[in-house]
Amino acid sequence: MRLRNIPGARETIAAHNLCFTEESPQAGNWQDIFGNDHPVHIEIGMGKGRFLTALAELHPEINYVGIEKYSSVLVRALEKIDAQTEPLPNIRFIRMDATDICAMFAPGEVDRIYLNFSDPWPKDRHAKRRLTSAEFLKRYDQILVPSGRIEFKTDNRDLFAFSLDQIEPAGWKLLASTWDLHHDDALNAGNVMTEYEERFSSQGNPICKMIIARCES
Ligand code: SAM
Repeated sequence: MRLRNIPGARETIAAHNLCFTEESPQAGNWQDIFGNDHPVHIEIGMGKGRFLTALAELHPEINYVGIEKYSSVLVRALEKIDAQTEPLPNIRFIRMDATDICAMFAPGEVDRIYLNFSDPWPKDRHAKRRLTSAEFLKRYDQILVPSGRIEFKTDNRDLFAFSLDQIEPAGWKLLASTWDLHHDDALNAGNVMTEYEERFSSQGNPICKMIIARCES
């Protein structure tokens, strides 16, 4: 997702009390930021934040951090949060490229990572940029608690097949998966749809989902 440049988006994010950027690394600070020791769940590539905001409303006992690369996209999430009458105490945002995620979270500081409709980077030479690549799994390995897991949804079947292939060689194991989430009663129970999920499933695209954890967990 890349919206056209929105004038003032960077400044809005820099001044917003719920937002951090790569210029202010926060590794180790999240309990202080939220003022409690609740588990931290993050979404990388959150887009306009609908999924994470819905989860934050449903689960006040979890702290949520949404990560988005582009100011012009993140600022739309902030507009929605600011328009809410009841402020959500359990959500924060980071504008950054997730390549540098380890500067933002200390080892074991994250309990769960959501990847939803991540950019497919279809050219082979860009495979390392895919958020489910072995390179990114190494980064997630550093920040997740030992029992931590990753939940990934996409309608891109090539990206899903690639992602399945990454799991075992990188030292992870598949806990559950489906190539058609909306017709899988078990995995679809309690599913919260993302913006892209709504759009692609309404076009008839089946949604794939996998849940993975480290082998030793
Ligand atoms: N997760 C949302 C959903 O499912 O509706 C948005 C999906 S959109 C296709 C992918 C989002 O990931 C875009 O907003 C893009 O800017 C962001 N993104 C892609 N690569 C990223 C990276 N390396 N770090 C942070 N965000 C990234």
